[in-house]
Amino acid sequence: MERVYNFSAGPAVLPEEVLKEAAEEMMSYERSGMSVMEISHRTPLFQSIIDEAEQDLRDLMHIPDNYKVLFVQGGGHMQFAMVPMNLMKNGKADYLVSGLWSKKAAKEAAMYGDVRIAANGEESGFTCLPDVKDLSFREDADYVYLCLNNTIYGTMWHQLPDTGDIPLVADISSCFLSEPLDVSKFGLLWGGVQKNVGPAGLAIVIIREDLIREDVCPNTPTMMRYKTYADSGSLYNTPPVYSIYICGKVFRWLKQLGGLEEMKEMNERKASLLYDCLDSSRLFTPTAAEKDRSLMNVTFVSGDPDLDARFVREAEEHGLMNLKGHRSVGGMRASIYNAMPVAGVEALVSFIKEFEKNNS
Ligand SMILES: *Cc1c(COP(=O)(O)O)cnc(C)c1O
Repeated sequence: MERVYNFSAGPAVLPEEVLKEAAEEMMSYERSGMSVMEISHRTPLFQSIIDEAEQDLRDLMHIPDNYKVLFVQGGGHMQFAMVPMNLMKNGKADYLVSGLWSKKAAKEAAMYGDVRIAANGEESGFTCLPDVKDLSFREDADYVYLCLNNTIYGTMWHQLPDTGDIPLVADISSCFLSEPLDVSKFGLLWGGVQKNVGPAGLAIVIIREDLIREDVCPNTPTMMRYKTYADSGSLYNTPPVYSIYICGKVFRWLKQLGGLEEMKEMNERKASLLYDCLDSSRLFTPTAAEKDRSLMNVTFVSGDPDLDARFVREAEEHGLMNLKGHRSVGGMRASIYNAMPVAGVEALVSFIKEFEKNNS
C-alpha cells in the first residue's frame, strides 16, 4: 500500500514502524491469541503496557519523581475544564491567550472562577507572541495558563514567563515530545496525544503532586478529578487501552531514535528547510512572526485565497495531503510532527518551487 505525506494538524501522521508493529500484533498480542483491544485492562498483560508507557515517557522527558503521569480520556477540551475544576482553590487564574485553544480554555475556566486575560494576541491575528518580560500576574492567582505551541497559527513560546511561585500550566498538545522541556518549570503539563504522539481520545497529564487536591470545585464529577486518576494508576475505569498501547510504542520509537535532543535537531532541520524555502519565495509568505515560529506547524499564504485553494488541490495530486490551513484562518498549514520524514518536507519544498515557477 502506497503511503502519502500527511501534513494534517491532527489526528496526524504516526511513525510507519509503529503502525507496522501494531499491524503485526493485531491478531495476537504477545502470543495471547487476542488483540490489545480484546484484553481486560485488569490483566498483567495490559498492566505492563501502561507501566512501560509511563516509564518510557518519564525517561524521555526526565519527569521528576514528585510528578504524576495520568492517562485521561476526553482529549483536549476536557482538560480545558479539568484544569480549573481541580486547580482553582482561590477561584482565580490568569490566562495568556495566544490562539484559539487558549481562548477556548480561558472561556471554559471562566465558568468556574475569575479569569484574567493577562495577554491577548487577538488583535494581531495571533501571528506573534508578547515579550515574556512584559507580562505580569496576580499574586493570588491559582495558576497561570498558556498554550505552548499554537497549532492553528504556527507560533510557539520559545521563552517562558516567570510566574514566581504561581504554578504554570501548559497545553503542550502540538509540541508534545518535539524537543526537550524542563518539566520542573511547570505545575501541570497536559497534551492531547492525537497531534504528535498517538490516536485521538487520550490526553496525558503531568502534574506536580502537591497540586493533586481533595478539595476541588464542588460537584466535580469523579472522572474529572485528577486525584481519581492518580490514586488508581489511571485505571479507575476502563481506559482507552489501544490509544495507550500505541503511545507506548511511539515512546519506544523516540527512545530508539535517541530521545528528545535528537528529535529537536531533526525537527529544526525539517522546519528550516521549509521556512528557508518560504522566506525566499516570491509567491508565499510565512504568517508567524519569525521570532515565534513553531517547529511543528508552519503556516503560510499567497495572499490570494483562490491561488491558495489551487495550491492545496494540486499538492494533493502530488501525494502531499492536508495542507489546508485551519478553517478559522485559511491559507496553508504544514504540520511537520516528529513522524513526518525529512523526505516529506523535501517533497513539499520541491512542490512549492514548482508551483511558484508555474504561477509567476
Ligand atoms: C487540537 C488541540 C486542542 C484540542 O484538542 P481536542 O482533543 O480536539 O479537544 C487543544 N489544544 C491544542 C494545542 C491543540 O492543538
